[in-house]
Amino acid sequence: MTRVYNFSSGPAMLPEEVLQIAREEMADWRGSGMSVMEMSHRGKEFISIAEKAEADLREVLGIPNNYKVLFLQGGASSQFAMVPMNLLRGKRKADYINTGSWSKKAIEEAKRYCEVNIAASSKDTNFTHVPPQAQWKLATDAAYVHYCPNETIGGVEFHWLPQTGDIPLVADMSSTLLSRPVDVSKFGVIYAGAQKNIGPAGLTLAIVREDLVGDVLPGTPTMFDYKIHATDASMYNTPATYSWYIAGLVFDWLKKIGGLAKMAEINKRKAEKLYAAIDNSSFYHSNVAKDSRSWMNIPFTLATPELDDAFLKEAKKEGLTTLKGHRSVGGMRASIYNAMPEAGVDKLVQFMAEFARRNA
Ligand SMILES: *Cc1c(COP(=O)(O)O)cnc(C)c1O
Repeated sequence: MTRVYNFSSGPAMLPEEVLQIAREEMADWRGSGMSVMEMSHRGKEFISIAEKAEADLREVLGIPNNYKVLFLQGGASSQFAMVPMNLLRGKRKADYINTGSWSKKAIEEAKRYCEVNIAASSKDTNFTHVPPQAQWKLATDAAYVHYCPNETIGGVEFHWLPQTGDIPLVADMSSTLLSRPVDVSKFGVIYAGAQKNIGPAGLTLAIVREDLVGDVLPGTPTMFDYKIHATDASMYNTPATYSWYIAGLVFDWLKKIGGLAKMAEINKRKAEKLYAAIDNSSFYHSNVAKDSRSWMNIPFTLATPELDDAFLKEAKKEGLTTLKGHRSVGGMRASIYNAMPEAGVDKLVQFMAEFARRNA
């Protein structure tokens, strides 16, 4: 078996240990005579898998008891609609912070349901920094404040928590959840598609403060109502059972590593190595403001775009794959989520130095 270092932004690498366990349990889950894929979601085997996954996630993230954890489908993209549908609660306005591509998508969707107040934007720097809270113009009558703590495409990350007082803070944490500790009690809703840092595609996590559950916008489809999923323990309909199971194995893996504090230490070190390789070279360049640089998604450019194809081709030969930048940004992007081993970053850094030497 040959595994590459896959720098894909998502679906992304999973820990090899998790894949090994999944392989061992593939055809016969712990003597049940069935694959997890073949189990009834209402059977005792799957219920035990589901409950353990939730308990482990609660432990790893330190989720307070007054929060519901929902294991949904529809991706983070469905949350762009579910958030206003569930949180407007009679109000007509919501605050949004615009820091790039994913913020914009959330904003466009919210506009279908309410008046969107862009409380802050980093458009002036082409979305390469996080606007400091001192510049935010929050509306006093907003139902909630939405932001994207890590812009997966632009590689811009908040390294601080916004303060919104009594107005619920909502975060699209698709590409940062579980990368470091987070004080869940500061949020109304946290949501994330699983395929970046949690598990396989098809699963979407929503962590919702209890008092925000219920009272949806009239006409909201049943499947878009947090209350339905909260009441039925995410089993109103058939959930993404296999993805849920794999996510559970990932939570277990995180516990074995030493939890999110340990994970953050590793992630910070990985990111620093890669940024040092970029900054200490005149061949590579990052245009993201230093205080806003993502630990998870690191876009960079080469001295000239004419070298992009050669870089990608030679990197691939070394087992370093999927480094092509998003079409809207160009250049390269290395996504280094939890499951990217530090050795993968070391190898990329070494390759970058050699490539620069040969092509500068
Ligand atoms: C990937 C991503 C999304 C979209 O997720 P889907 O699960 O594909 O809907 C939304 N927000 C962020 C920050 C992302 O990284």
